Amino acid sequence: MGTKDATPITEQVHTRAPYWQDVPDEKWMDWRWQMSNRLNNVEELDAVIRLTDSEKKALGSSGLFRVDITPYFASLIDPDDPHCPVRKQVIPTAREMVPFQSMMEDSLAEDKHSPVPGLVHRYPDRVLMLVTTQCASYCRYCTRSRIVGDPTQTFSRKEFDAQIEYIESTPQIRDVLLSGGDPMVLAPKLLDMILSRLRAIPHVEIIRIGSRVPVFLPMRVDEAFCEMISQYHPFWLNIHVNHPNEITPELAAACDRLTRAGVPLGNQSVLLAGVNDSVHIQRQLVHDLVKIRVRPYYLYQCDLVEGSGHFRTSVSRGIEIMEGLRGHTSGYAVPTYVVDAPGGGGKIPVTPNYLLAQSPDKVVLRNFEGFITTYQEPDDYDPHEINALEAKTPRRLEPGQEGIHGLLDGQRMFIEPEGFGNVHARGGAEHRLRSGSLTQKWQPLGVGAIEHNKQAPAQLDTAAEEGAEGEQDDND
Ligand SMILES: *Cc1c(COP(=O)(O)O)cnc(C)c1O
Repeated sequence: MGTKDATPITEQVHTRAPYWQDVPDEKWMDWRWQMSNRLNNVEELDAVIRLTDSEKKALGSSGLFRVDITPYFASLIDPDDPHCPVRKQVIPTAREMVPFQSMMEDSLAEDKHSPVPGLVHRYPDRVLMLVTTQCASYCRYCTRSRIVGDPTQTFSRKEFDAQIEYIESTPQIRDVLLSGGDPMVLAPKLLDMILSRLRAIPHVEIIRIGSRVPVFLPMRVDEAFCEMISQYHPFWLNIHVNHPNEITPELAAACDRLTRAGVPLGNQSVLLAGVNDSVHIQRQLVHDLVKIRVRPYYLYQCDLVEGSGHFRTSVSRGIEIMEGLRGHTSGYAVPTYVVDAPGGGGKIPVTPNYLLAQSPDKVVLRNFEGFITTYQEPDDYDPHEINALEAKTPRRLEPGQEGIHGLLDGQRMFIEPEGFGNVHARGGAEHRLRSGSLTQKWQPLGVGAIEHNKQAPAQLDTAAEEGAEGEQDDND
């Protein structure tokens, strides 16, 4: 490393490739300098990293998803190793141009779930708010590559207004997740404005950001930023680390500043072939994360998005990795492995099976070691005892999204695919042997019919005041 002086900022510089050794520390630690000195073409990258033919070919082709890498993050790349796990995440290869079966542009059907541009309302009580299309660096497997990276396609004030108005007029939204692009590359004032407007909405309980800025640009997490977000508590942040090599003293310091500002930190990783599709690498990753007080939150199966075919692993590999985590290490260090449903069903957790068998009085379970045990069910369990208490607890309505829980709760008797009724209407009633009063027996039961719910989201609020009794009586 170049010049060493005694200013505190020098202590913060641990990660810098020789190429930038003459850059003064003050500049290196300035996030604006990092952003304007990003690498994005063959010449610039070749000066820092020994590029392979495949990388050169990809970088030289047009129509590729945007490339931009902060000097800080580029310094984590092994310049001589084409298999470097950091490198693969941000430098394209020719493999990126190979299409695969089921590849989609918007595999999570987010556009379909957007009541206004950039707002994805898929779950009953929370929304995803896309506030920018820009990032500090670009991940090659980006799930939103259809909109991310294009500097001409970003959100305007008018769109923020429409997003915020929708949230204001939809009281069931208690959690707003800012993403993009990366909300932490927004102009500080603009992010501050969005957060303060969200915080002013009474029904918005928590605000969170999903960001890779702490990983690509840890110097952005300065004191001013931490002070700004601490005005908006409860505020949560998920970062995105895929490999232990990304956990540097700079990232650790950024996470320390955030946790001291009261921000609970989580991590979302993507399971990537050749980067982290190994039990041993994942164990190292989750251990290194909890050491910097970051709780592993999700491990994502790679989406079916253009350009990411070579990163995809089998789902069974993911399950194998989860088998190697649960029980083998701290529960805090175990993320939830999810497949984000192609077609827009949201995140679906996938786990090894621990429940082996059931009878009315016993369940048979196995642990991570293969030890098999039984749990004796109580013979006097009375679920009705809780009803009086439950009636006093606000009940959130989720019209049309009651799901499997709604079946158990007696809100519906069945869930049928669209058109199911028509497919099976083969005129059976006309062939009934007896008619008259007996046919009354064959009337629908009155629950379970799929009546398309026409209630506007704004009307959905807790039913507590109306008395939850009415809710429960349906199937008693
Ligand atoms: C991931 C996601 C969320 C947040 O999901 P959690 O499981 O609550 O973290 C919300 N909305 C959309 C559209 C998402 O994709």
